Amino acid sequence: MKTKLIASVLILSIAISGCQTKSVDYSRDDEGSKSVPNVIIIFADDLGYGDLSCYGHPTIITPQLDKMAFEGQKWTNFYVAASVCTPSRAGLLTGRYPLRSGMCSDKNRVLFPNSVGGIPEKEITLAEQLKKGGYVTAAIGKWHLGHQKKFLPINNGFDSYFGIPYSNDMDYNRPEGVSKHETFWNAKPEYFNVPLLMNEDEIERPANQNTLTKRYNEAAIKFIKENKEHPFFLYLAHSLPHVPLFAAEEHLGKSKRGLFGDVVQEIDYGVGQIIETLKETGLDKNTLVVFTSDNGPWLWYEDHGGSAGLLHDGKGTTWEGGMRVPAIFWWPGKIKPAVIDEMGSTLDLFNVCSKLANLDLPEDRIMDGFDLCPVLFDLEQSPRKNMFYYRGTTIYAARQGAYKLHYITETWYTKDDNKIIHENPLLFNVEVDPSEKYNIADQFPEVVKSIDNMVKQHKAEVIQVKDQLAERTKDKQ
Ligand code: MG
Repeated sequence: MKTKLIASVLILSIAISGCQTKSVDYSRDDEGSKSVPNVIIIFADDLGYGDLSCYGHPTIITPQLDKMAFEGQKWTNFYVAASVCTPSRAGLLTGRYPLRSGMCSDKNRVLFPNSVGGIPEKEITLAEQLKKGGYVTAAIGKWHLGHQKKFLPINNGFDSYFGIPYSNDMDYNRPEGVSKHETFWNAKPEYFNVPLLMNEDEIERPANQNTLTKRYNEAAIKFIKENKEHPFFLYLAHSLPHVPLFAAEEHLGKSKRGLFGDVVQEIDYGVGQIIETLKETGLDKNTLVVFTSDNGPWLWYEDHGGSAGLLHDGKGTTWEGGMRVPAIFWWPGKIKPAVIDEMGSTLDLFNVCSKLANLDLPEDRIMDGFDLCPVLFDLEQSPRKNMFYYRGTTIYAARQGAYKLHYITETWYTKDDNKIIHENPLLFNVEVDPSEKYNIADQFPEVVKSIDNMVKQHKAEVIQVKDQLAERTKDKQ
């Protein structure tokens, strides 16, 4: 397997011995007890592939995440289920492509404050799954899977919720005489009348976004300390660095990358506090921490959006920059430290967590995830060999092994309609050419055919369900 081990011979020898003696029950601790591990998923919003120093950014300095990556695994081919917020989150929490739950649409790409729908009751969220294993569950941060009561986290498997129900740029409330540019590039919380919820109750409106990241981290640390005796699942979905950008005063002006860098560095600081809490409480020995992002950078916002690094395009697109994201797995003593260039996806986290919690996967529905535990704990090959790149309900591209085939390409957030339906699909080797520059379809017709067959097979087993994003009331937004 093409895994690059970090640095030392010691690590290499541990890795090799790990490959030779495979553990079967990954949830057992060193004493062999049956205790199941805690799970923390930290999910940034619109953080691009190139926005952390451990992924190559030269002026956003993220020492806490870099340390996590060094002590754990940094994945370089990790994908989200969609390139925008709502369907991406649905994919992570259900382990299924969003088309299966109706959480993607060709009419509206995400849910809005006047949307009627949300995550259907019959979907099993990761929180509902882990509740079956006796986990205490908490959602902190942005939800965006429906703001009506029945769709909120506490009615979908989470014991508690603290956060904003949709994106931080919604409920847009531009005062007279303030330009649109000003409201985003010099944002004030009152320009966005976003509610802050505690469980089902609105506790602040507009949410003071200057202190949201800080308050999310404080809530996360409180939850960890209060639940150290039970297995817990914490889903910490930061509202940022989605525009408009806000940071607490003590983090402002700290990054050479400007406000966007300050925001990312504040998130990094909070990650450090969470890791420190786990160490202080001794929970680091029994907690999996995953850090990733919901989609690529929002390039339309220029310096207020992030960077996909060497990847092409960003949020909203099915180019690599839209759907390939940073992903770090940390669990000292358990996860074999490495840089992983195998494929993985947020769709797989449902399987990974179920495996760790000794829970069977639902058998009454198609699941789209793979169990990544053999990679995490034994440095074996990833069972994920493909990825389908949906835009709304349509497959625009598909990856099989090193090769990615584009049927349709389209950027987003430009005034020009640049959707191109390729009569002869474009083929890229994204291992050799991660920037998707060199179309090699003519040289590899058998690969084109193979991916095409895979897509046909996938389409044949997808049952379209009700579009949850289509219906909106006539209210503002
Ligand atoms: Mg997003």
